[in-house]
Amino acid sequence: MLRLLYQLQLLDAEERAVRAAQTESEEYQDLRRIKSEFEQKKEQLRASALERKTTEDELQLLQNRFTELKDKIAKENVALYDGSVTNAKELAAREAQISNIEEKLQLLQDQQNTLNLAIETAVEKFSIIRQDMEEQSQRFNVTRDIYWQKCSQWEEDVSNINNQKQEITAQIDQSWLDWYNANYNKFDGSPVAMLNENHVCSGCHIIVPSITYKRTLTGKSTICDKCGRRLFVE
Ligand SMILES: [Zn+2]
Repeated sequence: MLRLLYQLQLLDAEERAVRAAQTESEEYQDLRRIKSEFEQKKEQLRASALERKTTEDELQLLQNRFTELKDKIAKENVALYDGSVTNAKELAAREAQISNIEEKLQLLQDQQNTLNLAIETAVEKFSIIRQDMEEQSQRFNVTRDIYWQKCSQWEEDVSNINNQKQEITAQIDQSWLDWYNANYNKFDGSPVAMLNENHVCSGCHIIVPSITYKRTLTGKSTICDKCGRRLFVE
C-alpha cells in the first residue's frame, strides 16, 4: 500500500512540476511583463491627452485675448482717421496706445507659437505611444499563441498524469488515501519515504538505524526517526 502511495506521491510531484513550468515559463513571464508595460503606456497616453487638452484650452484663451486686442487696435485706428482726434497731444496719446497694444499682440503671438509647438509635441508623443502600444499588442498576441500551444502540451501532460493517478488511487484503500491527504502538506507533498538498500530515507536522506530497516523490511509500521515519514523498503 505504501509503495502505491509512494507512486501517487511521485505523480503528484510531477504534476506540480508541470504546473510550475507553466507559470515559470518564459512566455508566461513575458505576457505578464508586456501587460504591465502596456498599462504604463496607457497611463502615459492618458497623461499626454490631458496635457494636450490643457494646452489647447490655454491657446483658446490666448486667441480670445488676441481678437480683443485686434478689435481695440481697429477702433483706435478708426478714431485716428475719422477726424475725432483734434490735437497733437491726443494724437500722440492714441499712437502710443496703439503701439502699446501692438507690443502686447507680439507677446501674445510669441506665446501662441510656444503653445502651438507644445501641442505639436504632444500630438507627436501621443502617436509614438500609440505606436508602442500597437507593437506591444502584436508582441503580446504572438507570445500568447506560443504560450497557448505550450499550454495544450502541459494540459496533455497533466491529463496523462491524472489518468495514472486514477489507476493507482483505485488500488488504494480509502483510509490510506485519507491519511495521505491529511499528511500531504505537513510533509511538503511526500508523507511516504522509501528506504533504499543502504538504509537511506528518501525523504530526508539520512541513514535510519538497522533495527528500523529490519522492522520495515518485515512489514512493520515504521516512521523515519529524523523526518517522521512513513517508511517502506524499495
Ligand atoms: Zn527521513
